[in-house]
Amino acid sequence: MSTRAVKAGQFKDIAVPAGTKEKVAVYVGELATGTPLEIPVWVIAGRRPGPTVYVGSGVHGEEPAGMAAVANVARRLDPRDVRGTVVAVPIANPAAWAFRSRHFPLDAPNVGDVASLPKGDPGGIMSERIVAALVDDITARVEYGLDVHATHLDSVNYPRTMVTITGAEPEDVQRQRMALGKAVGYEIIHLWKRPGHGGGVTGQLNRRGVPTIAIEAGEGWRALNPWVAILERGIDNFLKYTGVLEGEPLMPPVQVEVTARYEVTANRGGMSFLKVRPGDFVREGQVVAEIRDMFGETVEELRSPWDGIIIRCSLLPTVATGARVCNVYQTDQTDLDRWTQRQLPALEAQIRVPGLPA
Ligand SMILES: [Zn+2]
Repeated sequence: MSTRAVKAGQFKDIAVPAGTKEKVAVYVGELATGTPLEIPVWVIAGRRPGPTVYVGSGVHGEEPAGMAAVANVARRLDPRDVRGTVVAVPIANPAAWAFRSRHFPLDAPNVGDVASLPKGDPGGIMSERIVAALVDDITARVEYGLDVHATHLDSVNYPRTMVTITGAEPEDVQRQRMALGKAVGYEIIHLWKRPGHGGGVTGQLNRRGVPTIAIEAGEGWRALNPWVAILERGIDNFLKYTGVLEGEPLMPPVQVEVTARYEVTANRGGMSFLKVRPGDFVREGQVVAEIRDMFGETVEELRSPWDGIIIRCSLLPTVATGARVCNVYQTDQTDLDRWTQRQLPALEAQIRVPGLPA
């Protein structure tokens, strides 16, 4: 299949005939070598009418698990099975991807975060141009959005849905987002209170009235299973819930809503040794990691501030003061009981993180 090349700003005007799929490369600029920088977009135009939806990954260039999941789903989708149109972007930030980096490192004076820039600018720094292409052009016609993440370089994340609550979302959009947040079918639903945030692709789509949520699972820098399969399952659920695909979303036996997150942060420098894994429940005061100095002596024990569930763990042991070793999401007692007694979904049961406690 050939690829159609367009410039940023022209994507929204292309027509893909119903019952076909097409690859489109949206030009946003050049690297220092003069090499063109393009955002890859799959357009799957269903044979039957339905909603237009956006599924994107890679606003952070170091999260290939999400990119692989979006690409796998887009390649697999058959327009004969699709209602409406799927606009799928495996690598939303190719400038960061090219450097195996979270952000585009050549932005100046500050690097831009495509996941939080308040707005795009087609004449701005690279990251602002990418946001403009994504928000004003590639997603110009979408009615629902899904933003797929993994985590940053040194970490691993237990699968979860993120529904931000910024105060900027219209009420009916927020209602639809809560329903979407459940329907993508992860055990953890993070109701993320971020007053005044509302930036990045997700935030701008929500403000525009397009219900958009994010999902996140796996490691930074690598695209391994079961993480990729776990993210694909979430994308499939999203497509089923929005009516693009037939069938019911695959739901886990237990879903828990969490709001408060605490980053367990080292005060001392040295080497960290985790006592927990992503998905573990911990009690208030429980030691979750210890820091040892250069002689191997323990100089600090890090404890959970509350009863909760470990979501992210940092896998690299080199820590200085301020290193975020893991995080704990607070839960109430009822949820904690349901969590510890739950039956794991099939893919979550395959999660292994070498080096962390069994
Ligand atoms: Zn991310």
